[in-house]
Amino acid sequence: MNNYEDNKKIIGIPRAISYYGNYPFYYGYFTALGIKIILSDKTTTGIINDGVEKVVSDTCLPIKVFVGHVLNLLQKGCDRIFVPSLQSSAYKINNCSKIRGLPEIIRNVIDKPFKMIEPTIDKTEGISFRDFCYDIAHEYDIFDEELINFAIDAGWRVYDNFLKMTNSGVNYEIALRMAIEGRTVTAPIEVVKPLSVVIMAHGYNLFDERISMNLIKKLDKMGVKVYTSLNVSKKDALKSIRELDEIQYWANELDLTGTAAYYMLNNKVDGIIALSAFGCGPDSLMVDEIQYHAKQRNMPMIHLTIDEHTGEAGFVTRIEAFIDMLIRKKRKTLEQNNIVTLPNTHVKIRELSVTK
Ligand code: SF4
Repeated sequence: MNNYEDNKKIIGIPRAISYYGNYPFYYGYFTALGIKIILSDKTTTGIINDGVEKVVSDTCLPIKVFVGHVLNLLQKGCDRIFVPSLQSSAYKINNCSKIRGLPEIIRNVIDKPFKMIEPTIDKTEGISFRDFCYDIAHEYDIFDEELINFAIDAGWRVYDNFLKMTNSGVNYEIALRMAIEGRTVTAPIEVVKPLSVVIMAHGYNLFDERISMNLIKKLDKMGVKVYTSLNVSKKDALKSIRELDEIQYWANELDLTGTAAYYMLNNKVDGIIALSAFGCGPDSLMVDEIQYHAKQRNMPMIHLTIDEHTGEAGFVTRIEAFIDMLIRKKRKTLEQNNIVTLPNTHVKIRELSVTK
């Protein structure tokens, strides 16, 4: 027996993968259709371990985490779970095979009875986002086109508001909460920080605080200004990829190459931090591409990879070492130009892994 009275009008959304980019839309859309959302809990070590137990070891961490979140929803008694098949976001702009095949993965590793809501978006094959939304509604026996279109508009309203706030500098958590509450806030007046970095990473790796081990907060505490994909418009990210004479191949390249390229080309940061899952094929290509361009511009860069075994102490050490190196480099440049001196860093150099 489950915990929800009208299970037909509920949807369980795993707090993983597309949740981090699309939840504002999902929230507006499902709510307008009258479907109650059950979210899985925030990622914990237990959720990760549950996912790890179910899949082969060389699967990337975000997919293991997704599996763990599906199990978490089942434990909560939710038996309608959203597992979209996100094939391509534009003509021949593809997602990785694991995201494309997510429903198949879940079907094969979880042998418990539940209904999977698994709409497809595949613009290469002419399956549009509108088709995707209509498929979802039909699963709930909702065929009223006016209502479905109204729900799609509602989804975009919440999403656009979220994006407007994050593009202006409001942080992820606050923008998400405000967008869901139908409110808007402006970014706080920025305190000028002596050092800034851009993090190139998928939202599901970076904004999941357990996976990223609170990377943004750690840098913030060190006094470093952090930019992420949420601070760049999609248009600017795409334009920046092209300015590097590269093409967008992967569906979520804007979070990685687009974001890093934008800040690098505009000379807005002192360094680049790439955060990716161990064994991720697409990310390794994208990181290599940016590493090549960073090297041409003498822009320091570090690549942090994560999996379920990554220990926080070693992770912190590498970040501190990188920031320490950036401070030394910047101090030298500023002093040479008689501009200003930066305070001594509190971190110690233990290890450096930078683009030379
Ligand atoms: S893009 Fe990489 S990290 Fe993300 S799901 Fe695919 S293989 Fe995993």
